[in-house]
Amino acid sequence: MNNRQLFLQHVAQTSDAPLALEIVKAEGMYMWDADGKQYLDLIAGISVCNIGHCHPKVVKAIQEQAQTYMHLLVYGEFVQAPQVAYAKYLTDHLPASLNSVYFTNSGSEAVEGAMKLAKRHTGRTEIIAFKNSYHGSTQGSLSIIGDEYWRNAYRPLLPDVQHLSHNSMDMLSNITERTACVIAETIQGEAGVLAPQREWLQALRLRCTETGTLLILDEIQCGFGRNGTLWAFEQYDVVPDILLLGKALGGGMPLGAFIANRDVMWSLTNQPVLGHITTFGGHPVACAAGLAGMKALMEEDMMAGVVFKEKLFLELLKHPRIKAVRSRGLMLAVELEDFPANKKVIDHCIQQGVITDWFLFAPQCIRLVPPLIITEEEIRAACKIILAGLDTLVS
Ligand code: PMP
Repeated sequence: MNNRQLFLQHVAQTSDAPLALEIVKAEGMYMWDADGKQYLDLIAGISVCNIGHCHPKVVKAIQEQAQTYMHLLVYGEFVQAPQVAYAKYLTDHLPASLNSVYFTNSGSEAVEGAMKLAKRHTGRTEIIAFKNSYHGSTQGSLSIIGDEYWRNAYRPLLPDVQHLSHNSMDMLSNITERTACVIAETIQGEAGVLAPQREWLQALRLRCTETGTLLILDEIQCGFGRNGTLWAFEQYDVVPDILLLGKALGGGMPLGAFIANRDVMWSLTNQPVLGHITTFGGHPVACAAGLAGMKALMEEDMMAGVVFKEKLFLELLKHPRIKAVRSRGLMLAVELEDFPANKKVIDHCIQQGVITDWFLFAPQCIRLVPPLIITEEEIRAACKIILAGLDTLVS
């Protein structure tokens, strides 16, 4: 059996139509398959590889840390320099109130930790989330995602969860002194790039403050320069009580985090002690990689071109089959009439050496979330292929 057949046989599948491309190398904007075919990556491993694949500084940091030490002990006991350095660097780049970082293995685990923290800190049980939001696939994070189709098969779900409409001022009164936390993606990703209205997000912040509810912003997908600023919330002049990070946080390695004020985080330390336990969370190699990656993002000024590149995509992506394009920096959703049309374009692009995808809750939209290092030339080449794909749709 070849690798593809072994993959289908022995690597658990949750899709009946996996892409099953065998990638043998990735670097910067590109990947190569087993036949040597080159692909331009327009999805960055779903918003992970914001600085491109295998950034040399990240590779070096991983090699050095792997030679120094790897796993030592479960989270939070030993002083591990890569964790300390990354927590310091992150908090140096966050509002002063967000000064305590709990590192996890994944985005979903960060969501779980944050919900637990909110319950412990407030002594309340109700969790409010939003329709069309995505927060992960573990039982708890799945319970709060805002899409019935994706969560229904896993009932009973976490109790005392309400889903409100995004951008609805009227619904803010549902947040009360019973509510432990409100969790929102700053920019909804899987819904197909839906941004909140500025006034609404600010009113949400205010309502949380009034009711003593913790505001959790999930920037697992939209953080790390994706929108042109390091954090998406900066563009709205709000500061969350808990910030959730993942995906690009690890520079290509698995890493998540929930970040809060130290006074709030302290609620996890007694009655019972060890309020969140993780064996591998904050793995030293992942933290070393993440720190090197974030430094590359900042020092190489990768966010500088994001707005220009977004505009270029918007300018080039004009076609009668496109119903709408929604974007926040280099996070774009190109809306077509339905999933079959989208799938046809995606397949055409892959065949032509451009990797793109759809969104979980917006299967009719092409996902364009490239590494931030994409060049003008690469954007032009990619859009040409996307437009040719759109031409193949029969009218
Ligand atoms: N929140 C958001 C906004 C996400 O996009 C994702 C992943 N797509 C998650 C949480 C869950 O992260 P993970 O898959 O690492 O558990």
